[in-house]
Amino acid sequence: MPAREIVVVGAGPVGTVAALACARLGHRVTLLEAEERVNDSPRASTTQPPTLEILAELGLIDEYIAQGLMAPIFQFWDRPSLRLIAEFDFDRLRGETAYPFVVQTEQHKLANMGLARLRAMSNATVRMATRVEGLAQDARSVTLQTTAGELRADYVIGCDGGRSTVRKNLGIEFEGFTWPERFLVITTPFDFAAALGCCYRNYMADPHEWTNLFKVAGDDLKGRWRAVFNTREDESDEEALSDVAVRARLGRIHVPMESRDYLHLNLYNVHKRVAKQFRRGRVFLCGDAAHVNNPIGGLGLNSGIHEAWDLAQLLSREGADLDDYERRRRPLNIEYVQEQTIANKRRLEETDPALREQRFAELARMADDPVRHKAFLRRASLLESVRRLK
Ligand SMILES: Cc1cc2nc3c(=O)[nH]c(=O)nc-3n(C[C@H](O)[C@H](O)[C@H](O)COP(=O)(O)OP(=O)(O)OC[C@H]3O[C@@H](n4cnc5c(N)ncnc54)[C@H](O)[C@@H]3O)c2cc1C
Repeated sequence: MPAREIVVVGAGPVGTVAALACARLGHRVTLLEAEERVNDSPRASTTQPPTLEILAELGLIDEYIAQGLMAPIFQFWDRPSLRLIAEFDFDRLRGETAYPFVVQTEQHKLANMGLARLRAMSNATVRMATRVEGLAQDARSVTLQTTAGELRADYVIGCDGGRSTVRKNLGIEFEGFTWPERFLVITTPFDFAAALGCCYRNYMADPHEWTNLFKVAGDDLKGRWRAVFNTREDESDEEALSDVAVRARLGRIHVPMESRDYLHLNLYNVHKRVAKQFRRGRVFLCGDAAHVNNPIGGLGLNSGIHEAWDLAQLLSREGADLDDYERRRRPLNIEYVQEQTIANKRRLEETDPALREQRFAELARMADDPVRHKAFLRRASLLESVRRLK
């Protein structure tokens, strides 16, 4: 297969993985990023076993694990009563994957690791502060208009996030909806494992307001916790971000009054949308440019990395049918990512007392049954979706 001229738009985690995978396969790769540096706001950290397999193939795994935290277990809690409902252990996947655990490494670390590798490769060019503003294609190539001039490519991979300029330029519809509530992320040094006896990855159900509670390493590797909450539909940004409301939320996850200091706040809009097409001609969409979902379950970025990896192989295979990309990836995203993240959200926010108890009992039964426990983990980690393609 001859080396292609590939331009990747966006140096988020998906774009850097796409660029690195293509460059390692021998293509000439240019990675364009609109900003001067990688965005380090707190977003994804949960990296599932099949994604760790890809990072190992890319030669990043040791550095990736060293910059994060291993989280083999996740737990479901009833938040008001602080009752542990069920615990799932990735060690049950031993034998099916070389990585029977999740690694919590912040997504900007992956992007920066990928950029460092690309900068050391003679067939790769990284251009920061270069925004793509438009594109046009014919049967032979794609021409990109950027803030630094025009660029030609055999193929373009749009990894430019949920508001993708590439997707908009292709006129591809982003089907779906925006949830009425927003998600608030509070980063705090409070040690929840010591105080509550929880693990590094926790889903806390509450009929009034749920919480996802995670530990990440932080840039200093000293460790910190991120608590993600839904806001009330009628709650203004100002109110959600106010010191009083933030401290009250920390109180509702059982942080004592004197320990309610926090390091960082972020408020996000949350969507459920899938691009109507993942490919048009010589241009492909990957990651958030192709689909967005709520972060409960940690699937959005993981699926984007799987797409980037899959597409790099496809573009390198002699005689490959490039329509396979959309044929495989779009249904997988809908079935595994969109459906599961909605189910995950519903599980946490159920308000009917009888239904809540039913859901809790079902989770506990699943955790106690070795066959169902493993089946749940295979699906929740996207391992099932990845193995299905093989
Ligand atoms: C609170 C929160 C928690 C999350 N937790 C998880 C989790 O645990 N696990 C998980 O799998 N997912 C999670 N997600 C989702 C995850 O953050 C996204 O799926 C991920 O950021 C997608 O990466 P990306 O590279 O596709 O896009 P982005 O990270 O958005 O990167 C896009 C890049 O493109 C650049 N760009 C944009 N426009 C242009 C242009 N015109 N020209 C050049 N460059 C451009 C941007 O500057 C940016 O660097 C979470 C999301 C949120 C909000």
